[in-house]
Amino acid sequence: MPELPEMQALSERLVDAVGGAAIAGVDPLGFAALKTVVPSPESVVGHTVTGVGRRAKYLVFELDDGNRILIHLSQAGRLDVEEPPKKTRSKGAAVRIRFDNGRALLVREHGTERKAAWWVLAPGDDGPLERLGPEPGSDEFADLILRGTDKRRIHTILRDQRTVSGIGRGYANDALHRAHVSPYATLASLTADERQGLLDTIGVTLDEALERERERTGGLSEPKLGERFRVHNRAGTPCPECGDGLRRVSYESYEVTYCPQCQTGGKVLADRRLSRLVK
Ligand SMILES: [Zn+2]
Repeated sequence: MPELPEMQALSERLVDAVGGAAIAGVDPLGFAALKTVVPSPESVVGHTVTGVGRRAKYLVFELDDGNRILIHLSQAGRLDVEEPPKKTRSKGAAVRIRFDNGRALLVREHGTERKAAWWVLAPGDDGPLERLGPEPGSDEFADLILRGTDKRRIHTILRDQRTVSGIGRGYANDALHRAHVSPYATLASLTADERQGLLDTIGVTLDEALERERERTGGLSEPKLGERFRVHNRAGTPCPECGDGLRRVSYESYEVTYCPQCQTGGKVLADRRLSRLVK
């Protein structure tokens, strides 16, 4: 799933691709993808994109009449910048938005579970943005990590978009590894120094990823999951710090990658699904 760095860099490229252009047409290609009824998708035609930004993992297109278009790529969404626009309806296509500068954006989905989606929001309507937690880098986020009393595991807190927005499994795994914190740790189990270290490594992890993402061009068609991460999706390969084998553990229907030497004092974390079966 694309996370904050991928979506931030993509929004910056889209400023160049369609900023200042007017929408020439909207082709809803997947019926379930549009999450709003009013304003109608046709109502955006003829309006100019005055800005493209990001909030959490959402792309936010600002239009000259105050309406906004949101796009969420979900688990395996892709966004192609087409120049010239194609007419084809590719497999998993959600929507194609055409612009008067000869370009189009095609949103499509390769996953089967959770689908890429889009919204047309009237002024004052925050839609799905309303429920989001603070962005990493904000004072509110720093306060949560340094002084928070949330009793859930840190890995869960970081992935919960209502608590913290923009981080998913990938950068949660990488940041916890870099901070030498167990994915099963809670905030209360950390010292003040460990909390500060965790806050710092989350920042560095996301900043470095954003720098890498800014080297991409075009849309977001091949995330190449695995290669850009330190430990995420790399179970079985040597830890980049100590050289021991990285391990994975299944937890809340996710797979978490970690290094026992660096993060859990050598302890191998129990697979909860397996533990339940054994009981
Ligand atoms: Zn290690």
